[in-house]
Amino acid sequence: MNAPGIFSSASPCRSSFYRLEGKVAIITGGASGIGAATARLFHENGAKVVIADIQDALGGNASYIHCDVSKEDDIINLIDTTVSKHGNLDIMYNNAGVLDRPLVSILETTKSDIDLVVGVNLVGSLMGAKHAARVMIPRRRGCILFTTSVATAIAGTASYAYTASKVGVVGLAKNLAAELGQYNIRVNCVSPFMVVTPMSAPDEGDVPKVEAIAREMGNLRGQVLKAEGVAQAVLYLASDDASYVSGVNFVVDGGFGVVNPTLM
Ligand code: NAD
Repeated sequence: MNAPGIFSSASPCRSSFYRLEGKVAIITGGASGIGAATARLFHENGAKVVIADIQDALGGNASYIHCDVSKEDDIINLIDTTVSKHGNLDIMYNNAGVLDRPLVSILETTKSDIDLVVGVNLVGSLMGAKHAARVMIPRRRGCILFTTSVATAIAGTASYAYTASKVGVVGLAKNLAAELGQYNIRVNCVSPFMVVTPMSAPDEGDVPKVEAIAREMGNLRGQVLKAEGVAQAVLYLASDDASYVSGVNFVVDGGFGVVNPTLM
């Protein structure tokens, strides 16, 4: 039975249907996978979305800006072009990422693997956050997001270079959340389990294999995490529904980490 009066007035925390209405969002790595799914969902929720990527053929429209996140000049151009075109920047989703190769021994890990992966995943995220903060601080509002990975919590899930880069992003996000909270800027990460995207399944023929591995390894047996499932979590963190959430590494792994503290 309902308690009398509970439903008699509207909740002050009711979600808006267009949860990002009027907001300007940049999504790096937005031409593919998780970034593309998030771009669609943000657009459907009323945001003006700028996709930043190096895959110019996939972006190819007015809201696309070429940006190699490992180059600071490209990031500066991305942020400044977005602000001059749309007037401001509300959400900076640093999602672009690369994976070198499956986990191999530390003895087989090369300096070039580390330079590539850390340069895109960690340095690119840091520079994206820096230049987003530059335009958000004077407005005293904003939201900075990153895509990390279950590799930040569970040993044995990804290569040394990839794991180091993503753990670095978690530390970066916590420091940013601490420094930028005074300006009403929230900073969070989303940490997915295995998702079928061109990163995990580069060829069409890889998809069934990756899905089978995800089904077998996952905790919610039979279910496979889709890019859209990650995008839903990013939407929550980006929206005012998460107005008091900052400094977290929000895990979207179906409980995989609970049942697998390590794979080593
Ligand atoms: P994806 O390959 O589909 O998308 C990555 C995008 O990043 C691509 O569009 C690519 O062109 C872009 N990119 C790569 N290097 C870039 C650069 N230097 N500058 C700008 N853009 C660049 O892969 P995805 O799975 O959608 O990956 C998105 C994020 O999710 C990555 O940070 C990845 O590490 C993370 N992630 C993926 C999985 C997974 O299983 N797929 C799991 C956990 C975390």
